Amino acid sequence: MSSRKFDVVVIGGGHAGCEAAQAAARCGASTALVTLNRSGIGVMSCNPAIGGIGKGQLVREIDALDGLMGRVADEAAIQYRLLNRRKGPAVRGPRSQADRAIYRNAMLDAISAHDTLTVIEGEVVDIERTVEGVGAVLLESGESIRCGAIVLTTGTFLGGLIHIGDKKIPAGRIDEAPTYGLSATLRNAGFALGRLKTGTPPRIDGRTVDWGAVSYQGADEEPEFFSFLTRSVRNRQIECGVTRTTAKTHEIIRENLQKSAMYSGAIDGTGPRYCPSIEDKIAKFGDRDGHQIFLEPEGLDDTTIYPNGISTSLPEAVQLDFVHTIPGLEKAEIIKAGYAIEYDYVDPRELRHTLETRRIAGLFLAGQINGTTGYEEAAAQGLVAGLNAARKAGGSKSFHFGRGDAYIGVMIDDLVSRGVTEPYRMFTSRSEFRLSLRADNADRRLTPLAIANGFASGRRQAAYEAKRKDFERIIGLANSIVLSPDEASHMGLEVNRDGIRRSVFDLLAYPTISIDDIVRIWPEFNDFGPGPLTDLETEARYANYVERQRADIAAVKREEARNIPELLDISSLPGLSNELKQKLVSARPTTIAQAQMIEGMTPAAIGILIAYSRKLESEARKPS
Ligand code: FAD
Repeated sequence: MSSRKFDVVVIGGGHAGCEAAQAAARCGASTALVTLNRSGIGVMSCNPAIGGIGKGQLVREIDALDGLMGRVADEAAIQYRLLNRRKGPAVRGPRSQADRAIYRNAMLDAISAHDTLTVIEGEVVDIERTVEGVGAVLLESGESIRCGAIVLTTGTFLGGLIHIGDKKIPAGRIDEAPTYGLSATLRNAGFALGRLKTGTPPRIDGRTVDWGAVSYQGADEEPEFFSFLTRSVRNRQIECGVTRTTAKTHEIIRENLQKSAMYSGAIDGTGPRYCPSIEDKIAKFGDRDGHQIFLEPEGLDDTTIYPNGISTSLPEAVQLDFVHTIPGLEKAEIIKAGYAIEYDYVDPRELRHTLETRRIAGLFLAGQINGTTGYEEAAAQGLVAGLNAARKAGGSKSFHFGRGDAYIGVMIDDLVSRGVTEPYRMFTSRSEFRLSLRADNADRRLTPLAIANGFASGRRQAAYEAKRKDFERIIGLANSIVLSPDEASHMGLEVNRDGIRRSVFDLLAYPTISIDDIVRIWPEFNDFGPGPLTDLETEARYANYVERQRADIAAVKREEARNIPELLDISSLPGLSNELKQKLVSARPTTIAQAQMIEGMTPAAIGILIAYSRKLESEARKPS
């Protein structure tokens, strides 16, 4: 059998794989993307949506690094919504519903656009090693493809097993066979593997929904694009339906809980706490009067509806019964049953921050295989793994992001240093730097890195440079106009009467002073478009908070050696979630540094631990 040779081989054409392959090719590496089916490239296994809180920030970061997900999501967007719009920019999350078919085609087009990237259909069954590290991948067909580095991104396919009630179907996704060979390869090499699970709702035929019986949620009038390069909406924007479960729905689910694969004990893997099944919701919060369900069309020319909120592994007949108790769905027909899937993942503590494994040089892992859940988390890891695989193959220095650089850095640091016991998804609360790691400034944080390291396209570079110049000019102008409190007051801008002269930039830190006030008084600001004006306002509003954030982070660093007194009653601490209380009680860390290593620990929780440890200590020191 002939042997082709590439610098980098990426295994898997899902969200991690596409991003990894494009990143490696962008770095000039000859790259092969080996995946089970070409038609499976860019498939969204579950919900037809990209982004959200925390996840939207990741997509912006991928885009700022000239990755694919943001541009492809904009190509496919059929409903843009900025989540948390009423809250501050740091916690806003861009989200869009996507037309599945457009997304897939746009991803395939983007992958096909690279001369140095070849898509090969096939199943990788083994990895061949040399004394230095990886040497080749072996396909089921018998072909061996030689390479300098490998990125493994097999998602839910390794040892994948679908559960619907008591039915068990070996599968990587519905109607797609699982793969086993690579699990054995990893196990034999000594990797620690575990089982995780996730689930998906039944798909409904939209022609059988009573659309008159549900309410609606529309798209934002002013869409927030994912990509810093996107200038206009590509598709017609749609509404989605909104309905709720009823008391009858809950009754049926409760009566049948033991038939659910999740509850009958049939599944070993741990599921995502943050994306619970409807069984979970009823068992834990069933006394609520109803759980909201979004009826999301899967495409503009697709009658399939994704009922967001009712992921289930109950038997098909029970799924149909409970669906019929939901207003608007009384006569709904199910096209595909909901299911749970369990699969093998690798303990991410096996990885370095570059996503290269510690055991096998040149082998990188990215995506769901590392214990994460979600397209965005997968894509972000793919990008990092692809960049580093190309560097490894080319003999250049590796590259990684710190926690203060990007959510990508936060996620990878969490994974490789704390590991996972349940599928990991991104939240803004995971980052101690969330005030500076905003979706709006992802390009300012990361595009210069992409340019400096040679993996930004000319188009990206030109767009960024133009924006950067505008930003610097508007900040310069805002800093150059300086007023005393009296002068400000004469202009209707009230600030502290402390005699301190303040620039327009400083004035904008006052919540009572808006960019519209500034433009009204100094019309020269109008020479800049709405983009730079918004950037100025956000940057100015956050300047003081970011400064305080820096001080808080330094303070926590100083507290790392602090002992957590044995007498501290963790279960009674206010402000800690039950989840974290349980983890702390069972791990019983003795220092703050140890507490920081607990999976899922948030900066806010660490702040609480420090405060109460300190309080207890000072009480103990008081003379009795
Ligand atoms: P995938 O997108 O799964 O891609 C894996 C790729 O690897 C596929 O292209 C496959 O063909 C290929 N492949 C596998 N084995 C081989 C091999 N041996 N050789 C060659 N190619 C191979 N995420 C959420 O955020 N929320 C949810 O509610 C949610 N629910 C989900 C429900 C289900 C049923 C499933 C299956 C996934 C769900 N996800 C959910 C997860 C989301 O789909 C994944 O996180 C994301 O797709 C992971 O991307 P990935 O690139 O790691 O893997």
